[in-house]
Amino acid sequence: MRKVIIGVGLLLATGALVGWSYGNLERGLLVAAALVLLWMLRNLVFLERAIQRDDFTAFRFGEGICQQLFSQFRYERERGDRYKSQRLQLLKEIRRSTRAMPDGAIILDAQLEIITCNRAAKSLAGLKPKKDRGQRVDNIIRDPALTELLRANDPAMTADIESPLQDYAWLNCRLVPYGAGQKLLIIRDVTERMRLNKMRRDFIANASHELRSPLTVICGYLDSFVDEASVPAEMRQPILQMQAQAQRMSGIVQDLLQLSHVEGSGGAGDDELVDVHAVLTAAADTYSSLDSSPEIRLEVESSARIIGVTREIESVVANLVSNAVRHTPKTGRIRLSWRVTDAGAELGVSDNGEGIAEQHIPRLTERFFRVDRGRSRADGGIGLGLAIVKHILQRHDARLEIKSAPGQGSEFRCCFPAERVSAAS
Ligand code: ADP
Repeated sequence: MRKVIIGVGLLLATGALVGWSYGNLERGLLVAAALVLLWMLRNLVFLERAIQRDDFTAFRFGEGICQQLFSQFRYERERGDRYKSQRLQLLKEIRRSTRAMPDGAIILDAQLEIITCNRAAKSLAGLKPKKDRGQRVDNIIRDPALTELLRANDPAMTADIESPLQDYAWLNCRLVPYGAGQKLLIIRDVTERMRLNKMRRDFIANASHELRSPLTVICGYLDSFVDEASVPAEMRQPILQMQAQAQRMSGIVQDLLQLSHVEGSGGAGDDELVDVHAVLTAAADTYSSLDSSPEIRLEVESSARIIGVTREIESVVANLVSNAVRHTPKTGRIRLSWRVTDAGAELGVSDNGEGIAEQHIPRLTERFFRVDRGRSRADGGIGLGLAIVKHILQRHDARLEIKSAPGQGSEFRCCFPAERVSAAS
């Protein structure tokens, strides 16, 4: 660049000198400036042609301003090409890996309209990337559980839906945030898991069902032996023990049957209005009459009803209250509450009994989970009560919240959404 400036300066100085020697300095300077301009114009025309033809042979050597522009241009272009090929390579890698993924991946924009999807999404959910682009995903895959998942927009939530392509096939969907304002809908084939779950449920239901009739006969005979005066005195104690164990077994079979009935059986019907006040009053009366029961207090603030199944809500209350009675000393206190909230309504069972350590709380609703196995067995529990409660609440679109601290007591709150609550008529 310095050389160019020096050259231009020299040309102007020569023009001025020649002009001055002829007695007209300005004209000499003007002619020199016009020559500089013409030279630059020529170079620019050559450069423009070279860019158009993509042939820079004429600029490869030399140190003029155009050569410098050319080398800068070439450097930037090569850098751009390198960057572009790296990006293309990366894109190819991403495409290859999403194509190899067994799970379907659908990229959605902020309006939940399809941008693109991988091969597995096509085979699992029947998506056609070109045809379906720009369509809302719930217009293509129509399932209430998917609509709910999209509405909730919670990455921790999943929804099991029936395959739109195949009978008896199930897909698990999860929606996670992706890119700027976009979302990624991940679809996984869970047919095998659902099949095994169904097999397990059917097995438990069938086995429990088959056990019920012989147990009824055994309990019946034992009841009559207990009342039978001719039974020898030394047999009385063993018969009483057999009766207690047979009754316990009957309770377990009933719990197993109820769990397999409520588990995975869809939403509860909406043709009954459950009178929660009456259900809580009946439970308080039943359990207060037990010798071991602490004081049971009712705090009913609303006459609202639950839209659902009375028998099932009774079972929720019975399980929660019997737990509270078993885990609270006679000197303690149990509170049964019912109130309407901004989000719906809450049914609560709290006690100031022994409480539960924090690490056990997330596992309480697992079937057969007991904090203290030995003790639970002794007091009749087998760890099915809270699993039944959880599934009944799920059927009523409600959730169970548990707060507890060892030595301070526990609080179990069943939170019903507004759609499941009806003001009492
Ligand atoms: P179980 O039939 O053994 O009572 P549940 O599923 O009803 O089974 O309860 C699981 C475990 O949770 C119980 O073993 C018990 O340790 C604990 N639990 C439930 N309710 C209470 C409570 N109110 N206070 C203390 N522990 C409780």
